[in-house]
Amino acid sequence: MTEQNIQAGTAGIPTTGTASNYDPQKVEAKWQKRWAEARVFETDADPSKPKYYVLEMLPYPSGTMHMGHMRNYAIGDVVARVKRMRGFNVLHPMGWDAFGLPAENAAIKNNTHPREWTNKNIAEFQRVLRRFGFSYDWRREISTCEPEYYRWNQWVFLRMLERGLAYRKKSRVNWCPKCCTVLANEQVVNGGYCWRHEDTLVESREIEQWFLKTTEYADQLLDDLKKLEGGWPERVILMQKNWIGKSQGAKVKFAVADLAGAEPIEIFTTRIDTIYGATAVILAPTHPLVSKLLEGSPKRAEAEPKLAKMRQTSVKTEDLATMEKEGFFTGRFALNPFNGEKIPIWVANFVLMEYGTGAIMAVPAHDERDFEFCAKYGLPKPIVVIPKGGSETQDPPSKTEGGAPTIATDGVFTEYGVSINSGPFSGMESATAISKMAEFAEQKGFGRAETIFRLKDWGISRQRYWGTPIPVIYCSKDGLVPVPDKDLPVLLPPNPKLTGEGESPLAATPEFVNTSCPKCGGPARRETDTMDTFVDSSWYFYRYCDAHNDKAPFDAAKVAYWFQIDQYIGGITHAILHLLYSRFWCKVMRDLGLVHHDEPIARLFTQGMVQKGGVAMSKSRGNVVGAEEMAQKYGADTGRLYTLFAAPPEKDLEWSEESIEGSWRFLNRVYRLVERRAPAIRGLKSVKVGAAATSAEEKSLLRKAHQTLRRVTSDFETRWHFNSAIALVMELTNEIYSHESLGSTVRPEVRKEVLELLVLMLAPMTPHLSEELWEMLGHEGGLWTVSWPKFNEELAREDEVEIVVQVKGRVRGKVKVSVGASEDEVVKLALADPSVEQHTAGKQIVKKIYVPDKLLNLVVD
Ligand SMILES: [Zn+2]
Ligand SMILES: [Zn+2]
Repeated sequence: MTEQNIQAGTAGIPTTGTASNYDPQKVEAKWQKRWAEARVFETDADPSKPKYYVLEMLPYPSGTMHMGHMRNYAIGDVVARVKRMRGFNVLHPMGWDAFGLPAENAAIKNNTHPREWTNKNIAEFQRVLRRFGFSYDWRREISTCEPEYYRWNQWVFLRMLERGLAYRKKSRVNWCPKCCTVLANEQVVNGGYCWRHEDTLVESREIEQWFLKTTEYADQLLDDLKKLEGGWPERVILMQKNWIGKSQGAKVKFAVADLAGAEPIEIFTTRIDTIYGATAVILAPTHPLVSKLLEGSPKRAEAEPKLAKMRQTSVKTEDLATMEKEGFFTGRFALNPFNGEKIPIWVANFVLMEYGTGAIMAVPAHDERDFEFCAKYGLPKPIVVIPKGGSETQDPPSKTEGGAPTIATDGVFTEYGVSINSGPFSGMESATAISKMAEFAEQKGFGRAETIFRLKDWGISRQRYWGTPIPVIYCSKDGLVPVPDKDLPVLLPPNPKLTGEGESPLAATPEFVNTSCPKCGGPARRETDTMDTFVDSSWYFYRYCDAHNDKAPFDAAKVAYWFQIDQYIGGITHAILHLLYSRFWCKVMRDLGLVHHDEPIARLFTQGMVQKGGVAMSKSRGNVVGAEEMAQKYGADTGRLYTLFAAPPEKDLEWSEESIEGSWRFLNRVYRLVERRAPAIRGLKSVKVGAAATSAEEKSLLRKAHQTLRRVTSDFETRWHFNSAIALVMELTNEIYSHESLGSTVRPEVRKEVLELLVLMLAPMTPHLSEELWEMLGHEGGLWTVSWPKFNEELAREDEVEIVVQVKGRVRGKVKVSVGASEDEVVKLALADPSVEQHTAGKQIVKKIYVPDKLLNLVVD
């Protein structure tokens, strides 16, 4: 069966005779107990073995655990189990991203404590994960809301503070009036709305905030993306690259004309060579000079309502290309420092304060966005760059210099070319003009070459309760005083007043706020902001290596053994935030001497979503299929098999009850097959019959089994085509059944070998059932003592192959020969084939090209 025609739940599944003694509830409970007793999944660093660290992103425990969640864990568990069977020392841990707003919101709503709500959810999540039999080392479980974890957030924060990587500054922030807290840029969605309140417009406010200096690592975060090529999806690498957004360009100051005391406006451009074509200077609505420019301007009355409206709406960079560009003229003019030309100063919504200097020059003839804006508002579009060697760009030409048209009418030229109409720089190629003009600006003192990043420092302050307290104290005498390490952790007060309104809950808790200064002992105040929960998830994977260390975040030697993470699995939604912060945190820890690698994650896999009715499963849409419910009805193994079978792991999966039935029937069919045969073969010694197989039937059955094993091995190891691996196992099952009904001449030893292979191939996906069948086949040790089987190349080989016959390079026929047939033999057969003969009759064969077992090409004259 080819991969294209595999339909979920239909391949190889009979519709009748599904009754069997398979009782997944009993089987699954039995083996989970055995695994726990034998401590099968508990691992420790062991330098004598190759290690493998496989990790699924840690869940935020909220709501019901549904099958959308389970897919992620099922994929990780297959990988973990296959690696174990292949002799690796596998670290496969699980924990909880337990701080965060929903707990606090639920606490406010239900008048409980966030801890209570969180722990209840953790208990439920844990129960479901255990019910599914995922092979976690539960001794390493962590919960980020516990002081034993968050004290290390505080400890690393203090190290950052010592190194100037954590600092405070007043800044404009996104403020959700419903959450009553600051939101990260990433939490502002759909062009200006709160990520949690999709109907609430985010406001802009200015307050003192704590920041971590991610920009200090901007170059490294960008350059090290190269190290992730091949291991991370290209799409994620590209998203990070864009997020970091490095631009090489120049800053240039434009003086404001006719306005006494006005500061010059500094713009950033990546194309200083186009500055002679600038027809406006455009400021971001939140640019600090806007008010000054409007003061006394004839356009003030007209402009102010427009400005107010723009300031209300925050714009996300992703939306810039497609959004409607709006702007207004301030009534003021700027002077182009290169030619003294007076150009209007505008304010527009597509210029962002967060990027560059918050001001640009508009060069409509050479920038798409500027062109669109200037066309809308009727600003001129002079051409100052033409293609190299070309003289005609746009027509109709108007005034010309050296024969080239100078006004762009219906398009822009954004490529590099040759400067025209650019004073002394005319005739220079763009790259030369860029460096010469930046040099000139620097000499004259109105500009310089500069590299900028889109990446901003990470604002980590949250005015919320349920997060890590920032370990800082303010003393009226000593100012800002870090909490000494010996006083960590700074604990959250146990009984906060949570109202969801006003200032931070910690600020409203006097027993938390009031403290004494570690330096002078005088009365002092604690910092009342808590940390963004992305801090918690930035390094949790290190803690798993040494989860209960109370002297340090972790033991460096243990981390050195387990790291890097060999395989990380999670949703594409974390492509920038979590994964970028994790990379940043790793580099900081490396510079602190705690770890010895530049990147924490060697390979990343982003799985598709589970959908129902065409949309992702989510509680708010009411389309979830509860994981526990699923396990109760069909058993965990059926649920696991289904999520792996219904679609390739990287693609979205559309939930189908019918297909689950199919997976359920298939497992019953396998159970029945083994159950029926086991009594006759259980007592046999496990011998690999292998090549000693004699009858044709035996050979054909073994061939199918080893061919399947060969494909499944590569589907597990390299390609992750779990769905096609399962389809192949289904085919093999059919083949075994067909031999049964033929009144077979297959000896019991051969039968045993094939059934064992079948069970072993299913083991990573349906581990409980496989254990049960393994035991039924007479094995006592448990599958955890068994290695992944090796396929036998000789057995897998086909006896006969089809050779494609070409005449002068065109396919003219096919012949069947036994494997390894000689060239002469193949040529003889080919020439006897009527459809080949048509093209060779009466002609002379001048050349024969033979690719053994594949192709014969005859060249005739
Ligand atoms: Zn909100
Ligand atoms: Zn003091």
